[in-house]
Amino acid sequence: MLDADIKGQLAQYLELMEGNVLIKVSAGSDDVSKDMVALVDELASMSPKIKVERAELSRTPSFSINRIGEDTGVTFAGIPLGHEFTSLVLALLQVSGRAPKVDEQTIEKIKNIKGQYSFESYISLTCHNCPEVVQSLNLMSILNPNVTHTMIDGGAFKDEVESKDIMAVPSVFLNGEFFGSGRMTVEEILAKLGSAPDASEFADKEPYDVLVVGGGPAGSSAAIYAARKGIRTGIIVERFGGQVMDTLGIENFISMKYTEGPKLAASLEEHVKNYNVDIMTLQRAKRLEKKELIEVELENGAILKSKAVILSTGARWRNVNVPGEAEFKNKGVAYCPHCDGPLFKGKHVAVIGGGNSGIEAAIDLAGIVDHVTVLEFMPELKADAVLQERLYSLSNVTVLKNVQTKEITGTDKVNGISYMDRDTEEVKHIELQGVFVQIGLVPNTDWLGEAVERNRIGEIIVDSRGATNVPGVFAAGDCTNTPYKQIIISMGSGATAALGAFDYLIRS
Ligand SMILES: Cc1cc2nc3c(=O)[nH]c(=O)nc-3n(C[C@H](O)[C@H](O)[C@H](O)COP(=O)(O)OP(=O)(O)OC[C@H]3O[C@@H](n4cnc5c(N)ncnc54)[C@H](O)[C@@H]3O)c2cc1C
Repeated sequence: MLDADIKGQLAQYLELMEGNVLIKVSAGSDDVSKDMVALVDELASMSPKIKVERAELSRTPSFSINRIGEDTGVTFAGIPLGHEFTSLVLALLQVSGRAPKVDEQTIEKIKNIKGQYSFESYISLTCHNCPEVVQSLNLMSILNPNVTHTMIDGGAFKDEVESKDIMAVPSVFLNGEFFGSGRMTVEEILAKLGSAPDASEFADKEPYDVLVVGGGPAGSSAAIYAARKGIRTGIIVERFGGQVMDTLGIENFISMKYTEGPKLAASLEEHVKNYNVDIMTLQRAKRLEKKELIEVELENGAILKSKAVILSTGARWRNVNVPGEAEFKNKGVAYCPHCDGPLFKGKHVAVIGGGNSGIEAAIDLAGIVDHVTVLEFMPELKADAVLQERLYSLSNVTVLKNVQTKEITGTDKVNGISYMDRDTEEVKHIELQGVFVQIGLVPNTDWLGEAVERNRIGEIIVDSRGATNVPGVFAAGDCTNTPYKQIIISMGSGATAALGAFDYLIRS
């Protein structure tokens, strides 16, 4: 099942196992079962600490990973290869007794969860957002006997996916009810279960010298640069990494030929944690006001004060804002082709948007689905010529230019799309099962209202030092009017804003 390279790496990881684990295998005579048994046997042949026994679990094919004499509740239904292979390796190590790389506070929160929680997560093996959810839920299962988690590969359990109308991964169910979908950190899952910090936990915070809002590349870089000046630095982080977490392959982060979004996001977090920065995770800012100090109010009502603030709240997918988009989100309307593409195998999907991201999505999807229809508002596609050439070479793609999307139709899930030909004004309807919206990004700055000057499209206007029109308020990255939106540019502008803020502090 495993090639020589992977086996070599795996052998090193399995060396780290501390105690014995028992894998209980529920297999039938189907092909997936045979492959799964081959994988488990291969694992067992590589470590004397792995024991295997046949069992009847609630799904076949599946296997659970347990301590000897104690079920942990960690189950993989299907074969956790692809992006989930790391989840399998981590589960083996953690069940064997190896300490997880999670802070003590989070471990305590997990251990203190009361009540019975049975999680099921539906994933696809090509989804780069899924492993974090699977690994978080596995960890909760391993640390708390009241929690169980089954990862279900949608590709191996197609009937179940169809019957539950799952059209986006990861989709998580708790005790049989829908719990959430999309990427979630362990802190976010815990917050959803009711353990988010409230305003009182922030009441005693002294004012900061620099308070950074947003933990993407720009914010992380700003926090590191500020902390290195030895000044009191805080960072409000809804989620480390920002858009980087939605990115699979990154080939233009200079000095690294290739990396992947989640890996880079984890490095950002680790780097910030290396400094004396007060990190406030799972928090969103909702108001900024300049008084004697600058005040930032969080959504939980807490008010933080700082001499200087760096805004680095980035950007999010732009919605197409037509009837049906919000209604059928995760029911056929999707934004992440890498994640959700496999769920549309053999189906007809539309991609709205003919820029680079839209055409990349269409090319990617054409390899999986039956047919892709691209809808572009302008008379020409805006994507790079090389991408257009590749697109037009594909036989299962139709490109509609100069068309306006009018409605995404459906009953309980998407069944079509209506668009208007802008030349003739004729409205047409195509029957299809999925719509991927790829029409660019919108800055996360609505919450600022009139507090700082923004341009027509909501970007914060900054000068060459990252300063806004409000003394002491700086901004960096994709939320600003910088013409190019890239990781390396955001990091550079985060550094600029932190140095600009430091200059401001020593002069005021
Ligand atoms: C699919 C995709 C692929 C990409 N590929 C590449 C690539 O290959 N190479 C490259 O260089 N660039 C790439 N980019 C662009 C790159 O990811 C961005 O330019 C970069 O992440 C911007 O960094 P940022 O810190 O300014 O903002 P973001 O990454 O958007 O981070 C902003 C952070 O602020 C948080 N936030 C938002 N609002 C609030 C609030 N009110 N309070 C607190 N926090 C808040 C967000 O949750 C987020 O964590 C890609 C982008 C996407 C979407």
